[in-house]
Amino acid sequence: MKMYDIITAKKQGKALSEQEIKYFVQGAAKGSIPAYQLSALLMAIYFKGMSAKETAALTFAMAATGKVLDFSDLKGARADKHSTGGVGDKMTLIAAPIAAACGVKVAKLSGKGLGHTGGTIDKLEAIPGLSCNLNFEKAKSITNSAGLCLSGATADIAPADKVLYALRDATATVDSAPLITASILSKKIASGANNIVFDVKCGSGAFCKTLASAKQLAKELVAVGTLAGLRVRALVTDMDEPLGYAIGNSVEVAEAMEVLSNKGCSRLKELCITLAAHMLDLAGLGSLEQCTLLARAALEDGKAKERFLQFIQAQGGDIGKIGYLNTFALDSVEIKATETGFIQSIDAQAIGLASMYTGAGREKANDSLDYNSGIILAKKTGDFVESGELLARVYAKEPAKLKRSAAICAKAFVIGKKPKKAELILDIIE
Ligand code: URA
Repeated sequence: MKMYDIITAKKQGKALSEQEIKYFVQGAAKGSIPAYQLSALLMAIYFKGMSAKETAALTFAMAATGKVLDFSDLKGARADKHSTGGVGDKMTLIAAPIAAACGVKVAKLSGKGLGHTGGTIDKLEAIPGLSCNLNFEKAKSITNSAGLCLSGATADIAPADKVLYALRDATATVDSAPLITASILSKKIASGANNIVFDVKCGSGAFCKTLASAKQLAKELVAVGTLAGLRVRALVTDMDEPLGYAIGNSVEVAEAMEVLSNKGCSRLKELCITLAAHMLDLAGLGSLEQCTLLARAALEDGKAKERFLQFIQAQGGDIGKIGYLNTFALDSVEIKATETGFIQSIDAQAIGLASMYTGAGREKANDSLDYNSGIILAKKTGDFVESGELLARVYAKEPAKLKRSAAICAKAFVIGKKPKKAELILDIIE
């Protein structure tokens, strides 16, 4: 088999066979195919696409290049969730404990943040003592006792994805639905997930900027996930404005605790209850209506918060150090409204970048983080504000970072005269 012929076939829009797909995926993982040929193939896939069957073959081939974890001996049903990434997205920290409190096991691999989007592992590592560097046996034992465990993906999970993702990043081929689908699903298969709810974010702070592209990705994830033998569903949810009020690391953990204490942002609470209910439904706990009642009860009676604290402690975290206090000790700048009216939009990408510049995110993969810096919004889309009223506070350790972030943050708010309703769930793909 020759890589040249595989590139030619895809360039001409032909479907690749399972053998051809395995050949280039294994070659990518072993380093036996040069980057220029892999890059050319990725560009051909970008323009000519892949059928669901090809994407499923690509998914399996990528998953098979590394370890495939087997959680089948965990007691009880399992469920997982995956967000395509956004700003202020702390939903895993809320929805996973809700699902665990309802009796479903959540053993989840999560990632670090890059650019304007945050990562669950960074948020968790903002809790002093907590480790996401867990071996498989430890992760299983925490999942069995606490009901959930969140750990970082290791290098041996779908290694071909790491090679191909780095090439996509460098060749402007990241935003291809089959390549994203295979990248996400291969890691889910390798990490032993079976019932998965995808949260495809849509809007300025998301990967998918338009509803059409988010729906396309959601449909592809569901179609290929189903072909791969998984139980999957996708919610398409709004990411035009940040999720909740807190954007950063320790501030997002603090906000998750607030919601788990049945306080704080009601939109975030409702979204997490909905997501957890879909996880329970896929895991076979009842109808969606019954699962929604279960999820709401677990959040409102404090059982989900208990699970959250139990898993944080099991992973070594100091639960006495969760809160906003360390952030409030930093220097801050207040962003105030310059006119009276209704908030029309809060550009999630701009807020994500502003948060990154405070030190809460990474511009480059190896950057270190200031866990306590970030942004706390005072208003959300649709709120009425008087000129001079507080819109947000930006927190950072260094004055230069604070200045740069505050300038970006101030431009993220659009105020207008008409009332505005913010959307939450834009579509559900079965
Ligand atoms: N997340 C992934 O894991 N892979 C992609 O290709 C895009 C988002």
